Amino acid sequence: SQKIRSGLAKTKGVFAGVFDLLRGKGKVDQAFLDELEKRLYLADVGTQATTQIVERVRQAFRDKEITGEVEAFVQQQLRELLGNEDRGIRWSATRPTVILIAGVNGSGKTTSIAKLAKYLQDQGKKVLLAACDTFRAAAVEQLTVWAQRLGCDIVKQQQGANPAAVAFDACERAKARGYDVLIVDTAGRLHTQTHLMKELEKIHNVVARQIPGAPHEVLLVLDATTGQNALAQAEQFSKSVHCTGIILTKLDGTAKGGAIFTIKQKLGLPVKFVGVGEQLDDLEPFDPEAFVAALFE
Ligand code: GDP
Repeated sequence: SQKIRSGLAKTKGVFAGVFDLLRGKGKVDQAFLDELEKRLYLADVGTQATTQIVERVRQAFRDKEITGEVEAFVQQQLRELLGNEDRGIRWSATRPTVILIAGVNGSGKTTSIAKLAKYLQDQGKKVLLAACDTFRAAAVEQLTVWAQRLGCDIVKQQQGANPAAVAFDACERAKARGYDVLIVDTAGRLHTQTHLMKELEKIHNVVARQIPGAPHEVLLVLDATTGQNALAQAEQFSKSVHCTGIILTKLDGTAKGGAIFTIKQKLGLPVKFVGVGEQLDDLEPFDPEAFVAALFE
């Protein structure tokens, strides 16, 4: 889409010119491989994936007169790294489908929840929000403002309330009023990492007790501009709850979109949505084909 293309303005410059190095040479040489390696690395594709791709290119084109297919080959490698699993939301057979949203403060969690709610509302879904980040007054307020803008119902309590109690109330309301989707915000920072993960587990357990099969999705919000740090966060969260996918935010502001490859390779977690701006409409289902194509434009 257009948004992905313009959103990726910084990431996509990464491969610009690299294939020009092949022009007139007639073969893939070390200078080209070095440059390719550098560009993959700069795009934050990650050491392991970078080495793998460069090696495959070396092998595939060793002693071979090139006919211009190197670029297509590299694109194919990148697409394969991303896999082709289903990236759609896992809908529950019965209402409501529960989506738990986790992520550290500043990652774009609140904005992503609002964008996701809008995306689902646009599909005709009745959405309920649960403000379970009760540790931060601003989080509840911010989510409330978004809910008002969206014309979306929200379950909340005062700051400092037990997040598990808010989750319980939200499940009850979602069932009683026939909501299609319940999106649950969770804390983004607590005194300790252990505390944070414990709270997340508690909310997870309440939701699982109240609604069969819930949570149906646990989406982790990661800030693409943090590159490989995003990976460390994903590893941390994955230890306490079973994550089902990633919302990768701020792809519009970074040259580090390549983190997508590492997340997939190291954690096996699919990126399901990408954030490409600060507005409500700036969330898109992740499309690996379009993403890889944009990198080479
Ligand atoms: P939270 O602390 O994780 O809830 O983060 P917020 O949702 O408050 O977002 C933090 C900042 O990042 C805000 O200024 C958002 O507007 C901004 N933001 C969130 N998602 C995106 C995105 O996809 N692109 C850009 N450029 N900014 C974003």
